[in-house]
Amino acid sequence: MHLQNPINMLQYASENSFAIPAFNVHNLETVQAVCEGAVAENSPVIIQTTPGTVNYAGLHYVTAIVKKAAEINNIPIALHLDHCTTYEMVVQCVVSGYSSIMIDGAELPFEENVELVRKTVEMAHAAGVSAEGELGRLVGVEDDLEVSAEEAAFTVPEEAVEFVEKTGIDFLAIAIGTAHGLYKGIPKLDFKRLSEIRKLVSIPLVLHGASGLADVQVTEAVQRGISKVNIATELKIPFADTIRKRLNDNPKDTDPRHYLAAARDKVVKVVRHKIKICQSNDRASVLK
Ligand SMILES: [Zn+2]
Repeated sequence: MHLQNPINMLQYASENSFAIPAFNVHNLETVQAVCEGAVAENSPVIIQTTPGTVNYAGLHYVTAIVKKAAEINNIPIALHLDHCTTYEMVVQCVVSGYSSIMIDGAELPFEENVELVRKTVEMAHAAGVSAEGELGRLVGVEDDLEVSAEEAAFTVPEEAVEFVEKTGIDFLAIAIGTAHGLYKGIPKLDFKRLSEIRKLVSIPLVLHGASGLADVQVTEAVQRGISKVNIATELKIPFADTIRKRLNDNPKDTDPRHYLAAARDKVVKVVRHKIKICQSNDRASVLK
């Protein structure tokens, strides 16, 4: 199959009370792990990269690898650009073949944020690519973006309605108490706020910062109307931990095929678990 525009996946998920997991990848092995896990669970999946990963791995490599993954695996796969703050990089990724983008103007005042998102969405739609926007700000570190507790803000339901109408985005990331990166303890989520936003906003909703949430919290968020669940840190940790342990245990082993394969296997397990929590398993066939 070709890379899919994820809007059909997300609308179907939204109508059927489950979520599409969106996994952040960094290299060939993490793309392979996400695909292997999704194929094993027969799940549609969104593969996403931050601008930092695009810069690290190279746009052409990333796009070529994920396009090939979509071609050889018989499940719907989308390629999404996560947390992009510039119009220019969105253009580059759209031209390169990304099927979905997120434009993040959260550090701008509301009106400027709306204007940046609106013009980016217009360009993406002209290319047949769907667009995610975010209102509210999550605390924590994502790539080069760091948001302190003072700067973080929960999404205001009425503002979300206005933001969606004015920008034309296809799905909305909301801030209800999750954080990017690691938590100190289990976070408390504002589920009432999520339900209020769900009542007022008709497009699919996205949960960022889902790594480190209890499974039941993700389940409840999905039941209350989250259709896309972003998972980044929870793949990074097992990947790094496995390599670290492997090399410590085998100080003479210099073969990347050994330690990277072990890390990849570990990530496959996490991917399969997250798919089950999102209840997207066995949903690939209806979306093909
Ligand atoms: Zn995020």
